[in-house]
Amino acid sequence: MTSTQPSPATQPLLGATEIRRLAEEIGVRPTKTLGQNFVIDGNTIRRIVAAAKVDPRETVLEVGPGLGSLTLGLLDAAARVVAVEIDPVLAAKLPSTVAAFRPGKAGNLDVVLADAMRVTELPAQPTALVANLPYNVAVPVVLHLLEHFPSLDHGLVMVQDEVADRMVAGPGSKTYGVPSVKGAWYSQMRKAGVIGMNVFWPAPKISSGLVEFTRREPPVTRASRQQVFAVIDAAFAQRRKTLRAALAGWAGGAAEAERCLRLAGVDPTARGEVIDVAAFARIAEAKLPMAA
Ligand code: SAM
Repeated sequence: MTSTQPSPATQPLLGATEIRRLAEEIGVRPTKTLGQNFVIDGNTIRRIVAAAKVDPRETVLEVGPGLGSLTLGLLDAAARVVAVEIDPVLAAKLPSTVAAFRPGKAGNLDVVLADAMRVTELPAQPTALVANLPYNVAVPVVLHLLEHFPSLDHGLVMVQDEVADRMVAGPGSKTYGVPSVKGAWYSQMRKAGVIGMNVFWPAPKISSGLVEFTRREPPVTRASRQQVFAVIDAAFAQRRKTLRAALAGWAGGAAEAERCLRLAGVDPTARGEVIDVAAFARIAEAKLPMAA
């Protein structure tokens, strides 16, 4: 049987010429404040979409579609794309770009003009997050979306390479910190590659990293997520101190911090950078009144 549908690999994607033309048409000058670095290389888009392992039945959430480079690739792979863009000029242009480059797929796209750090409602429940994120807000955006959209089951995001290393780091590593532990509360994260600077317009000064994640259950605990996150924030606010000292303010004194740490089975002289998310959850729980 022959198919009249071109395969995704042969569908046109946006290169440098198209990106500059689209930007010129709507008078867009990329801004640093909004982290606007647009991908101008079709192979990079294909690589991101392949690494994201999107199922053809999925609804994908894309944050920051920009001029549509990744959106076109995602529309080839998924059933539906919900694109959340903060820049009204870019958001308004996207449907006509999709209509021009993927006429058959225009009905599969929802554009939402919103700040991805605040959005709490979407026109469809996404199961995957795939995005080339605005670099200055990448971690809070991912944490916000994992918190508010439990339907998000997996995803792949492009962030600054050093941020990618922080997101995927495990206890004991130099790069382990708040993004690693909070990310681990929701999901298993792993590095899925490095992307050079030349595939963007304008080119950023540093490389980008791909982070793949799969949602998992948070540690079982009587403490709420907010209570656990308060311990994580306190521990890393003074990361060179022992947990006994770093958590004194949180616990209401060093002796109380030590009591909670011992109850949680954590060495009070250890630093936050060596314990995992389950240990943070036990510390938060140790401060709660005993269960009846
Ligand atoms: N996806 C496009 C690409 O790969 O070429 C553009 C990626 S660019 C790195 C980041 C995009 O995120 C820009 O379009 C920018 O306007 C948008 N953006 C920045 N902050 C945002 C926010 N808080 N919520 C939603 N979109 C945002």
